[in-house]
Amino acid sequence: MLTPEYYFYCSDEAVELYSKLDETITRDIVRRIMMNEGKITETAKWQIESELQAGMLYDDVVSRVAESSGTSKRVVKKAFRKAGIKSVDFDNKIYRAAGKTPRELSMSPAAMSVLNAGIAKTNGSLHNLTMTTALGAQRTFIDACALAELQITSGAMDPNTAINEAIKSVAETGSYVEYPSGKRDKIEVAVRRAVMTGISQTTGEISLANAREMETDLMEISAHAGARPSHAEWQGQIVSISGDNTKYLSLSDIGYGDPGGFKGINCRHDWYPFIEGISTRAYTDKYLEELNNRTVTYDGEEIPQYEAEQRQRAMERQMRDERRKLAAYDEALKCTEDQKQKVDFETSFNDSSQKLKKYERIYDDFSKQTSLPTLKERLKTQEYDNNISKKVADVDKKAQEFNSLLGAKTSTGVIVNEVGIHIRSRAIARGESASDILNALTNPLKSDKIRIDDSQQFIGEKSTVVINVKTGKLVTTWSTSSSKAEKLKKKKGVS
Ligand SMILES: [Zn+2]
Repeated sequence: MLTPEYYFYCSDEAVELYSKLDETITRDIVRRIMMNEGKITETAKWQIESELQAGMLYDDVVSRVAESSGTSKRVVKKAFRKAGIKSVDFDNKIYRAAGKTPRELSMSPAAMSVLNAGIAKTNGSLHNLTMTTALGAQRTFIDACALAELQITSGAMDPNTAINEAIKSVAETGSYVEYPSGKRDKIEVAVRRAVMTGISQTTGEISLANAREMETDLMEISAHAGARPSHAEWQGQIVSISGDNTKYLSLSDIGYGDPGGFKGINCRHDWYPFIEGISTRAYTDKYLEELNNRTVTYDGEEIPQYEAEQRQRAMERQMRDERRKLAAYDEALKCTEDQKQKVDFETSFNDSSQKLKKYERIYDDFSKQTSLPTLKERLKTQEYDNNISKKVADVDKKAQEFNSLLGAKTSTGVIVNEVGIHIRSRAIARGESASDILNALTNPLKSDKIRIDDSQQFIGEKSTVVINVKTGKLVTTWSTSSSKAEKLKKKKGVS
């Protein structure tokens, strides 16, 4: 038997792999937009160039998918074999206890052929799914280009801003897969589903084949907290494979073979032999009830175990999203020499860095409090893009320095209460430090009158800062030009 947790985690490595592919494809889209940028003010040239780039982008993505397919196949094979061995070992202990002589997975040609068919099928669907990302990437690119063009021709934005917005939208979307039905999913969601369902169905089938070989008719179904209502009805029960033993459930009672039934899509239930006279029921009704009510505690709040697992998964998705955005802005930064654009992309990069670090801290704390294994613990090794990790850590360190502003008192007696993420990002991108800002607030060359919106401006030697005097929130900051600083210094009589 494989546990529901095992099914959750068995696709981790594949999901990580495809999340990298998502980042690479996003970089490809960003690069193509940036290459096209110079022509944005000439509509005809922009359109021709966009079409050309869209074609090349498609080819890029197709070769990315091909490049990753070897690794993907290895990862899938490893996950299937590991699950297969574990599952058969579990069943064989039960058969041995009943005096039977079962075979190891590798010694059973029938089981091996089920395993290999499962691997081939899953590889096939992963290949088909990821090939659809090439078309998706093209569409994301074309949409972003069309929107940028519209913003400029309508006069809503200058070319620089329009391109920045296009990059932002690509960073948010990333790549996706499309099913024949037209439904779209994020790559990682599709990969997790395909690998998990593939492993679950394959091990279930091997278990069934072995039961037939061992002439065993009864199987016990595992149970887990938070099972969907239709599965909660039969979890922890015994099923008769032949359907002859009417004391128990039949295969059709549990919907075996149905997408919504036992071993259907996203089902994490498993089964294993139950031998009358020898086996005892693993799940009493009382235990099943307890299981459904099992909770964990987070910050003093009791939450159902299953919900905690879902929350942890959602946090992992959130972190992956931020990592993809970081890859997009990092790529955009590589593609521009324009100073203003650099500051803008740098700011977006800094925003995502701080968010990622914040999410990581919450995630680690949540996992610790609820005793759920983190992704790092589940995967044992985890490689990040080292260059990006270093840059993110750097930004986070600089951003933390702005905490020193909290509680500071301006020359006019206002206490600083809040310094938002975005302000920190911009200041770092422009090379302003926390002490430049503190200096402006506490020892300004000039402070303006309070405006109608409660804001007040402080001009310091390096930074100019605007604060809301009612809330104590920093509104914005920018670098003071050196000529302005000189002029004010003269006026003030400091040299
Ligand atoms: Zn289920």
